[in-house]
Amino acid sequence: MTEYDVIVVGAGPIGSTAARYAAMHGARTLMLEDHAFIGSPVGCTGLLSTRAVGECDVEPSEDFVLNSVRGAFVHPMNGECLPIDGRKTKAYVVSRKLFDRRLAAMALEEDVDLWLNARVNGIERADGKQRVSVIRKGMPETLEAKVVIGADGVRSKVAKMAGLGKVSKVLSGIQAEVPYRSDNADFVELFVGSQAPGFFAWAVPVNENISRIGIAIDPVSVPKSQKDVTAYHVLENLLTKNSHIASRYGGGKLDLVMGGIPLGPLEKTYSEGILIAGDAAGQVKPTSGGGIYTGAVCAKIAGEVAARAVANGDNSANFLSEYDRRWRAKIGKELAMGMRIHRFVSGLGDNELNELIGSMNNLTILDTITRYGDMDHPSILIKKMLHPSRSMHMLKVFRAFAKAVI
Ligand SMILES: Cc1cc2nc3c(=O)[nH]c(=O)nc-3n(C[C@H](O)[C@H](O)[C@H](O)COP(=O)(O)OP(=O)(O)OC[C@H]3O[C@@H](n4cnc5c(N)ncnc54)[C@H](O)[C@@H]3O)c2cc1C
Repeated sequence: MTEYDVIVVGAGPIGSTAARYAAMHGARTLMLEDHAFIGSPVGCTGLLSTRAVGECDVEPSEDFVLNSVRGAFVHPMNGECLPIDGRKTKAYVVSRKLFDRRLAAMALEEDVDLWLNARVNGIERADGKQRVSVIRKGMPETLEAKVVIGADGVRSKVAKMAGLGKVSKVLSGIQAEVPYRSDNADFVELFVGSQAPGFFAWAVPVNENISRIGIAIDPVSVPKSQKDVTAYHVLENLLTKNSHIASRYGGGKLDLVMGGIPLGPLEKTYSEGILIAGDAAGQVKPTSGGGIYTGAVCAKIAGEVAARAVANGDNSANFLSEYDRRWRAKIGKELAMGMRIHRFVSGLGDNELNELIGSMNNLTILDTITRYGDMDHPSILIKKMLHPSRSMHMLKVFRAFAKAVI
């Protein structure tokens, strides 16, 4: 039977990063990918903070970066736009296909083996090892590993097979790349309120004439009367009925992307011989749905801990729990606060959101957002907003917000 030290299930960005780190720390590592291609089909807008790209150990390059953005125009239902200018590049718009391929190639450079067209459909513990059943190019095969890392995305089979349950909430996301005349291609646009129940819609510019326009909704926030409306119709409505978007939309679609966005991490991300990372573990920012930065932070720890477990000859749950402790110490508080922000904001009606966003449209607050706004760490800005040295106005605006999230 073929045996590896570490088997990583899923060759998305998080699987490739975890596999690379396992190999860098001395483990003989195999990555198994269900699809025949890396980075395809794409289920992402490809908006990556500058920190997210750095966390993946890559330099931004024309090989995968299509555009850079420095801020956002936030559109509440009353149409009174809040302009947030970060004044320097805050994020890149990337080709996820090329980005994922870069990360997979980096794993291969560290001698990770990669099998495409290899779907994992069973994992059992036998003689202190993990026995992994795979359908490879249509044929069943069994492999052994000391540690398996499940980086198999939002509907993780590995987490389920390990008895680690499911993430608490999955948003439905749909997006199309479309002809769209941006007012300013250095800014993304966000649309909040009942036009995107429970989350938000976005227009992310690839250039002045093409944007990725999408929407994520929380199925529990959709009014009963609209429950049978498909995601496709929700997107179609956004493109044609939102007056701001419709007046800039050129018609047609260049591609269509759909996917689930997990919010709220698993309570436990390890068991005997198994670690779970990335979307599979719900390691996603609940304020934006972005999972590359948080997933990469965790993937690196997962790869390293898996390799150390192999080197120490101890793949017990007790040894592997170090992974859970370390990733929560790094990003656990931020994810928890993000979840509270998400719950608070998604509970606001259109009028309350109009008011909250309207009251932020003030030079002092906008300056604070410019200085302290951080896509990956929203808690920094919230703490600054609540500092006693801030004006009464700011404290008033954020009092209710703070009560709910801190
Ligand atoms: C509409 C939408 C927009 C998004 N926009 C952004 C964004 O702008 N910025 C951002 O940071 N994040 C964004 N995200 C989230 C981001 O796409 C994910 O967080 C990220 O892809 C997670 O990476 P991953 O490697 O954990 O999982 P995935 O990228 O889902 O990779 C999992 C891999 O595992 C493979 N796999 C699954 N099951 C098996 C199996 N049984 N055997 C073998 N292989 C298997 C899959 O084929 C897949 O290749 C978005 C998500 C959606 C849905």
